[in-house]
Amino acid sequence: MRVTADRELCVGSGACEMLAPDVFEVSDDGVVHVLQDRPDDEESVRQAAQQCPTRALTVTD
Ligand code: SF4
Repeated sequence: MRVTADRELCVGSGACEMLAPDVFEVSDDGVVHVLQDRPDDEESVRQAAQQCPTRALTVTD
């Protein structure tokens, strides 16, 4: 699995960080940073991508 974030779309809601804090972090700049682009915890990352309000996260296999 590979995950990427479109930081132009991110509104900093923090939903992804709550679901997968080892993978996503919303920093002081107010947008998401991907901490691991090939994460082990695939299910929580898939949920985060589905629940992102702006569809900023993309998961590929
Ligand atoms: S859930 Fe989406 S909009 Fe919210 S912080 Fe994560 S990437 Fe950004």
